Amino acid sequence: MEIELTWAWLEGYPALDFANTVIRRGWTEYELVTSVDALSSWLDAAALPAPRPTTVTDDDLQSFLPLRDAALRLLRAATGHGDWHAADVRTLNEALLDCPEVTVLETAGSVVSRTVGSPAPFSLLLARLAAEVRDVLAGPRPDLALCDAPGCGQLFFQRRTNQAWCGPPCGNRARVARHHTATDN
Ligand SMILES: [Zn+2]
Repeated sequence: MEIELTWAWLEGYPALDFANTVIRRGWTEYELVTSVDALSSWLDAAALPAPRPTTVTDDDLQSFLPLRDAALRLLRAATGHGDWHAADVRTLNEALLDCPEVTVLETAGSVVSRTVGSPAPFSLLLARLAAEVRDVLAGPRPDLALCDAPGCGQLFFQRRTNQAWCGPPCGNRARVARHHTATDN
């Protein structure tokens, strides 16, 4: 199945924009970052916690995907979907340790984050994305949720208590799917 590459659902939270790079069509999941071009298009659309690297390579894609997979599993596990794996925590922490940063004093009342050494722009971006995911998981954020509707499966932050769907269209699709299941039986 050919999936049209749009990023219409990205919501401007780096940790979630990072994780929401697979999508459900029906109940089947599809990888959206299937090429360097797709990665580049995501970089243009997503909320990035570091400067956008001017170019990306296949090596960047190969380091993006395992970290994204770990982040996605951990964030899903935090919403009660799937298991929390120590190996995923190690993957996340390795990205952080790859690119250490120190908070230094800039002027009275303001600090700034400085990298140790001169990391490649893409490594810095991955480390900052890992830090965003760490902060959501360490929060903890009780408003983190997974929209378990057919055709969605996206992680989102609830805007009201017990919000089940990321938006009304997902609620409608889930109700229609439930209705079909009920009438099929
Ligand atoms: Zn949804």
